[in-house]
Amino acid sequence: MKTKILVANRGEIAIRIIRAIQELNYEAVAIYETPDRDSMHIRSADEAVWIGHGPRCDYLNIDKVIAAAQKSGATAIHPGYGFLAENADFARACEKAGIIFIGPPSDVIDNLGNKVTARRIMAEAGIPMVPGTQNLKAGDEGVQEAVEFGKQYGYPIMLKATAGGGGRGIRKIEQEKDLKDHYAMARAEAKAAFGDDSVYLEKAVVKPKHIEVQIIADKSGTTIHLGTRDCSIQRRNQKLVEIAPAFQLTPEQQEAISQTAVKAAKAAGYFNAGTVEFLFDNGKFYFMEINTRLQVEHTVSEMITGIDVVRTQIKLAMGKDLSIKQEDIHLRGHAVEMRINAEDPKNNFMPEGGKTVRVYRSPGGYGVRLDGFCYQGFTIPQVYDSLLVKLTVFGWSWNETVDRLRRSLNNFVIIGPKTTIPFYLNLINDPDFKAGKFDTSFLETHEHLFNYEEDSSEVNKLAKLIAEIHCKGGNAYAA
Ligand code: ADP
Ligand code: ADP
Ligand code: MG
Repeated sequence: MKTKILVANRGEIAIRIIRAIQELNYEAVAIYETPDRDSMHIRSADEAVWIGHGPRCDYLNIDKVIAAAQKSGATAIHPGYGFLAENADFARACEKAGIIFIGPPSDVIDNLGNKVTARRIMAEAGIPMVPGTQNLKAGDEGVQEAVEFGKQYGYPIMLKATAGGGGRGIRKIEQEKDLKDHYAMARAEAKAAFGDDSVYLEKAVVKPKHIEVQIIADKSGTTIHLGTRDCSIQRRNQKLVEIAPAFQLTPEQQEAISQTAVKAAKAAGYFNAGTVEFLFDNGKFYFMEINTRLQVEHTVSEMITGIDVVRTQIKLAMGKDLSIKQEDIHLRGHAVEMRINAEDPKNNFMPEGGKTVRVYRSPGGYGVRLDGFCYQGFTIPQVYDSLLVKLTVFGWSWNETVDRLRRSLNNFVIIGPKTTIPFYLNLINDPDFKAGKFDTSFLETHEHLFNYEEDSSEVNKLAKLIAEIHCKGGNAYAA
């Protein structure tokens, strides 16, 4: 019987992982909740197990996911990103059930999932970071600690959920008098979102770049990196566009930050693939966190190195050591990932869930990679995130990459939900973007990106499609 691997996720990332499993000649087991019953990830897998009505609670239910693996005979689980991917209890439950968890060991997830513990481990290893506190006390005592911190280091400061993730539970405090109000709210929100009301402070870096490094470690102590990614273009502390390598940094800066990431991973006893995140400002960089999982934007690192990160993750988890060394990794060209979300950028990126994709046509051709799960007739469930498809484009030079992005975005026809595509078309025409100048304040400082003709897209796209079908004799759908 073939080895089976269960994919404890949905959407585009489930399909990405299923592809790697099938290429390795294993069988892929999907799981799904009722709102996902028409999801493409079910059709891509070799078999699928229904785990409950959801929404979300069953994808997050450790017992049900383990039971699905046992029922199907899967001997390993890939958690993807989100849901249970960074849940140490889930990794522990797999370990206890004798199922291979495709990721780091549970104790490493425990340490790194707690931002205060992670900072302590990194400080001991001499990794640079901005000043910060331990967990603050509850109530007025905590506010007082924060007041002292603000006096010592100056404003702005960041109030962060210790167990936080996904850009949530982060508040920027501009002045002392705002502390009291934010403090109670931050604790309550952290409790509601992460089941833990611990919060701590970091000095804020003003207009930093978000730079991260993809690392891969085997059990024999070999740790390599796949270079840098610039993920500065964000909304609400969440990434929208990711670029590899972070070419605005000098080669020396890229090398220094990559070496520091390897050192950080080693200090944490890291195994499997992970991402070390830094803030970068004025030539200096500061450790932010380690994400103990596959990242949405891993595709850009794959494009510039040729390494299949998911294939590698599976092989490492199955007990193989890395067959490649750092010297085998050569960074070439540029890659950009744009998250095509069913969202209305003009309306604060409000999700467009519930809508049906009436027409779906995607770009192709040289240097274009798509990771999605969208098809014509698909009704986007309202209860999950709004990512429809990731467009990853490769080009030799930055200029060529931007040209290819423009062509690819223009070739997309998505009719039904609003998407981030018209916003990205504006973005790639922006002189700062073209010059590679971006930091985490980019959206706030480039409000003109939100000026585009709304329905020009709908009507024009349809007209364009009809014209193409007309002159190409109906072959406009061909890939
Ligand atoms: P999460 O776990 O939610 O990803 P991070 O700690 O990685 O949280 O921070 C997410 C984003 O918030 C960063 O990419 C950055 O834009 C912003 N951020 C976090 N900490 C700081 C800081 N000390 N100074 C400035 N910006 C920060
Ligand atoms: P494979 O599955 O082909 O045996 P490994 O699992 O050993 O490869 O390596 C993981 C990833 O590294 C794959 O994406 C593979 O294509 C890539 N790779 C393997 N050998 C090299 C090499 N010498 N240089 C660069 N990349 C390599
Ligand atoms: Mg982060």
